[in-house]
Amino acid sequence: RKTLEGKVALVTGGSRSIGAAVAKRLATDGAAVAITYHGSPEKAAAVVSEIEAAGGHALAIRADAGDAGAVRAAVNEVAKTLGGVDILVNNAGIALGGPIDEISDADYNRMIAVNVTGVFVATPEAVRRMKPGGRVIHIGSSMVRYAAFPTASLYTLTKGAVAGFNRSLVRDLGPRGITVNTVHPGPTDTDMNPDGGPVSKIVGPGMAIGRYGKPEEIASVVSYLASPEAAFVTGADIVADGGFTA
Ligand code: NDP
Repeated sequence: RKTLEGKVALVTGGSRSIGAAVAKRLATDGAAVAITYHGSPEKAAAVVSEIEAAGGHALAIRADAGDAGAVRAAVNEVAKTLGGVDILVNNAGIALGGPIDEISDADYNRMIAVNVTGVFVATPEAVRRMKPGGRVIHIGSSMVRYAAFPTASLYTLTKGAVAGFNRSLVRDLGPRGITVNTVHPGPTDTDMNPDGGPVSKIVGPGMAIGRYGKPEEIASVVSYLASPEAAFVTGADIVADGGFTA
């Protein structure tokens, strides 16, 4: 029996990169998986096809993480279509920013909407439907531990908000048998932060293991936290960063 058989997982921002890897991994573990996406419908459809070709069950819903109404509707659709929500992975995120005195109000508002409000809205909507054994897993960032380069203050503000939310939620959700944890990836080879791209020139030499992470290496940590074996782990900040911030 697969670890997540009979479970329903929702991965926000699952069309590409880390979110897509998480969706595929949870499907391999046996969960029915819904993903949300915003700008990449073809890639979202490809993730669904890949999961279904492997014998899994998947669903893609267009929902801008920065639009609270769309996020609520998406969780509702998942619950209706797949029969509940057992695992929520708050992955959708963007990285607008710049020097601290040059960040526009528009960029600030969009960052808060997607990286913070999206998480804040999806979480209660999902946990309302969770039975004991439910899982909330946030994707934070190793930037909350180590500021490796300038221009990321706004990004780190949003990830720090998620880390604080994570910590306090354990008291609300623990008595209900639901765990809540944050995985903080270090530099991981994705569209947002490609190995060989401008950020990698700065952070690459700091990787203790001598290379960037792969999306699948973040997905495997999420897989563990989603599993029944992780029932005693809640409120944790799990850093998966190849030793970058150690
Ligand atoms: P990518 O930019 O490569 O992919 C982002 C994913 O999120 C895409 O599937 C995208 O879908 C989705 N997304 C973005 N905006 C929205 C939105 N408004 N509504 C719905 N979906 C959205 O990012 P990564 O995979 O690198 O990052 C994933 C998470 O990991 C983020 O929270 C990021 O902050 C975090 N992280 C990444 C690190 C890295 O080094 N890569 C390091 C630390 C943390 P679509 O194209 O369909 O809009």
